[in-house]
Amino acid sequence: MQDVFTAPGRFYRGNLHTHSDRSDGVLTPEEVCRRYRAEGYDFLALTDHFIGIYDYPIVDTRPFRAPGFTTLLGAELHSGPMANGDLWHILAVGLPEEFAPGNAPHFRAVPGQETGPEIAARAAAAGAFVAVAHPHWSGLTLEDARSLTAAHAVEIYNHGCHTGADRGDGFVIADLLLSEGRRPSLIATDDAHFTEPDHFGGWVMVKAEANEPEALLAALKAGMFYSSQGPEIRGIDITKTTVEVQCSAAVTVIVQGQATAAVAVNGQSMTRASIRRDRFAASPWLRVTVIDAAGRRAWSNAYWV
Ligand SMILES: [Zn+2]
Ligand SMILES: [Zn+2]
Repeated sequence: MQDVFTAPGRFYRGNLHTHSDRSDGVLTPEEVCRRYRAEGYDFLALTDHFIGIYDYPIVDTRPFRAPGFTTLLGAELHSGPMANGDLWHILAVGLPEEFAPGNAPHFRAVPGQETGPEIAARAAAAGAFVAVAHPHWSGLTLEDARSLTAAHAVEIYNHGCHTGADRGDGFVIADLLLSEGRRPSLIATDDAHFTEPDHFGGWVMVKAEANEPEALLAALKAGMFYSSQGPEIRGIDITKTTVEVQCSAAVTVIVQGQATAAVAVNGQSMTRASIRRDRFAASPWLRVTVIDAAGRRAWSNAYWV
């Protein structure tokens, strides 16, 4: 895979998971787009709940595109029960407007509807970038996560689930999938409804040659991005013996790998860190976390070494 930090193009900041008053958010699609644009985002995916009580919305946000700001069409898909009996939540970004509704009348599973893995596969086949939404909040089991074979990504940080439920994390599931040899990419999102401080807290930085929907979608599918709550990651160079990280001012840089493998470097206003690979000799993958003085994090995708 091409390295995201040396690939041509530039980074575009975007939120992949957002709701409007077309489902259970409180703002109009236009106002949601206006706020993300005003906050300096380069792109936004509005992903309202794709269920019958909201008339299966795939909101056309194209009228709200502007110079320097674009949108991806999408939805949060719901169909079939997870192991705990509750309905699946699956993020689909880059859905065609004509994506066919299934049989999901409301937020409870009903007999005979598509399973989560089935609707995820249908969305991926239609061209969407598909992600397992908020694993912790959902009470997702590893078996559930394994079954979603069409997913490109796992939501490793969901800001709304963090602020509203203190269950914003998806790293336990993601690391276990990586350790089984699966290769999900790792996305941070807002899942903003604007009902609480659930916005502008987690985003992706996507490397692309243009801030255009097709280019962004291709980059997302290729894993050409990192995720952040604030810090920037500027380079990750994996040599034979070390992992060299360049970043905005950080107090901690951590490399994580399979099982118990993790090594941290701590300091003040660090913009570089070098971490020896000895501890990761048995790990087929590595990833990097950067933490700033305010406790905000940035996360790389996994590297296969
Ligand atoms: Zn959800
Ligand atoms: Zn959501």
